[in-house]
Amino acid sequence: MTKVLLAEDDPAISDPLARALRREGYDVDVCTDGVAALEEALRAPDLLVLDLGLPKMDGLDVTRALRQHSSVPIIMLTARVEESDKLVGLELGADDYLTKPFSPRELVARVRAVFRRIDRGPGRGDVVRAGDVVLDVPRMRVTVAGRPVEVTSTEFTLLSTLMRQPGRVFTRALLLDAVHGHGGDEGAAFARAVDAHVKNLRRKIEADPHAPRHLLTVYGVGYRFTDL
Ligand code: CA
Repeated sequence: MTKVLLAEDDPAISDPLARALRREGYDVDVCTDGVAALEEALRAPDLLVLDLGLPKMDGLDVTRALRQHSSVPIIMLTARVEESDKLVGLELGADDYLTKPFSPRELVARVRAVFRRIDRGPGRGDVVRAGDVVLDVPRMRVTVAGRPVEVTSTEFTLLSTLMRQPGRVFTRALLLDAVHGHGGDEGAAFARAVDAHVKNLRRKIEADPHAPRHLLTVYGVGYRFTDL
């Protein structure tokens, strides 16, 4: 049975979430502080749903400590006042986030999406497919609905990074790291470079670059590729 660990100190939030996840067939454990969350998460659940505002140890510290030992997928739950923390959390290696308030259905959808990505494997293969976009990695070729598209090597790297984990939110710093091998400490100019690459890619792969279906902006955070 697929085990989901839910770390949330407010039962008014965790109860309906746990119920919804159990209805989906997941085996759900709930813990209510950060220390317990870290301890339980090290016992290898299949996924961790982690509130950032936890007693004893906050969610970012849990993520930081956990990532030393574990690559368990993490979906962070953030309150509006913690909006800037979600960026830190994604940089630390969380897979996705939801901002409160959200419905149990939204969480279930995100959990399913994470497991879909895992089932597909890390996607290190020669061909990456997402929707009608296909990457031939060794040849650095892109086709959209069978039509070949010319891209630069930077655009190709950016696109393959996003497409290998469809649905995952990437910050600009993570994308910079993928492209240049280092993060976004170089400032706003590099972040704007990512935006420029994405703009070019949209022009090349989207039917309507102004209403993209694949390469979506996550406002204030970065980008995600969706194959839905
Ligand atoms: Ca909380």
